This record gives sequence, structure tokens and C-alpha cells, in this order.
Amino acid sequence: MSSLTDPITRVSMISTGSVAIRPEHVGPTRKNTYVWLFTSKRWTEPRPINTYVIEHRDGLVLFDTGQDRESVTDPDYFPGGLNGLIYSRLAKFDIGPDETLTAGLAKLGHRVEDVHTAVLSHLHQDHIGGLPQLGRATIMISRDEWDALAKPLPEARGFLRSHIDLPGLAWNRITPEPLADPTLAPFTDGHDLFGDGTIVLLPTPGHTPGSLSMLVRRPGNPPLLMVGDLTYDADLLAAGKLPGAGDKTQMRDAVNKVNALRQTMPNLVVLAAHDPAAADRLAATLPQRRAAA
Ligand SMILES: [Zn+2]
Repeated sequence: MSSLTDPITRVSMISTGSVAIRPEHVGPTRKNTYVWLFTSKRWTEPRPINTYVIEHRDGLVLFDTGQDRESVTDPDYFPGGLNGLIYSRLAKFDIGPDETLTAGLAKLGHRVEDVHTAVLSHLHQDHIGGLPQLGRATIMISRDEWDALAKPLPEARGFLRSHIDLPGLAWNRITPEPLADPTLAPFTDGHDLFGDGTIVLLPTPGHTPGSLSMLVRRPGNPPLLMVGDLTYDADLLAAGKLPGAGDKTQMRDAVNKVNALRQTMPNLVVLAAHDPAAADRLAATLPQRRAAA
């Protein structure tokens, strides 16, 4: 395949502000999630809240949509009571007026109305923040994640239903189907977004029941795997280490599968939502950097 046939013209990253989390959340830790959540006295340095932007000839694609700035300007954005306390112990956000999804897309020369498809890794609030602006896009989510949202007490499980299930959104709830692509082993099922193999959604549950990752492949470029919150640090993932929250059995399986993918894709680049090194990892794959090196 020559680069002339590459249906993708650019892959970029936008951070919608920054977030500080607990070091135990980054992991690894042996502590129970609720133990560190209520006892940790430390915060990490501010980390990005990444949205990935893929310019494909069949449409502009987002992977995740960031954190809504209203979450820091509207005192009622988060729930009150015990749930509110949990949210305030989990993360501290900082989002300036020029750090919204709309502003980030504008810097890349796009309008938020031009987004064709927004794939959500999962439904936590720092991934769904752009939904109020995405009424013209198709919102893709795994069926398993949607089903988790529908269970009782979603707010206690990190799903702010009133900010997710907005009127007028066009949801496409996908169930991964068998893919006849041996290079994806050990993944057998997924969802090929445009049917050309360049953007493939892969199930990587564990952080939440229906978490998805998105593989982006371009001729002559290292494959990119956007993993949402499967890790907060791609080096920890490569070392097989897990974050401090989520279903550890499922996360272990998903992390092992991602690392096994390197057998067919040795130069795989893992891009997480809150990895401070993600911007440099992505930039290092760009042709101009390679030529300069
Ligand atoms: Zn999350």
C-alpha cells in the first residue's frame, strides 16, 4: 500500500484541560479502591484529558470527547451527597475557556459540527464532555457499556446519566463481531469503523464493563492504539502493571491482549487518555519528526 492510498490524512490530539488524580489510581497498588480513595493525601501532577482526532476521507472521527468545561463552572454539574464526595476525592479538574473541545477542534481547522463519528472509550465524565456539542455526529459506544449505564445507581459507578443520555443524540451501540484479520490476534472480535481496516474498535473491558480501544493503522506509520483509561501510563501497561481502579481480572486480560498485539505490530504506540507522555508519543510518529531524527 502506498501512502497515496492512505484514507487518513492526519491524527491529532486535543486535551480539554487537565486533571489531577491520586497516585494509587495510576497504580499499581495492592490497596482496595475505596481504601485509597478515602485515605490518599496526594495528587499527581496535572495530567491531560485527551481526545484524539482522526481525519479520514469518510469522515472526521473523535476518540473520546474530553471533559465539559461546565463541570468546573456549574456548581451543580456533579451530584451532591456521598456520590459528590467520591467525585471530589477522585479527581481535580482545571479547564480554561480556550481548552474546550470546540476550541481544540478550531485550532485544527475543524468545526465541532463537522464531526462524523465520536467513539467513546467509556462513559465516565471526562470522556463524554463534548456530547452536548455533538448532536450532528454518530456517537459510538459498546453495547456492554450502555447496558452498564442502564443498571441501577449509575452515578455511584461513575456514570453521570443526566450528562450522557441527552436528547437528540444519535447513538450507535455496537457489539463486537468476528473479524477475519489475523494481524489483530489475540483479538478475534471488534468493529471495523469504515470497513477498510484503518480504524478498528477493540473490546478492552475492565476499567468499565464495556471499555473500548481504537486501533488506527496507516501505511508507513506505526499503528496507534488509543486505550482510554485501560492505563494512565503506556510504560506501565507495557510492563503488565494495572491501574488502581477497575475489574482487575478483566484489566489483566485486556492488558495482556494489548501487549500480545505487539507480536504482529512491534512498533505499536499506546495512547492513553491521561498519559502525560501521550502527546510526545504521538508526535514521534509524525513523518516530519522521523525525517528530522
Ligand atoms: Zn474512566
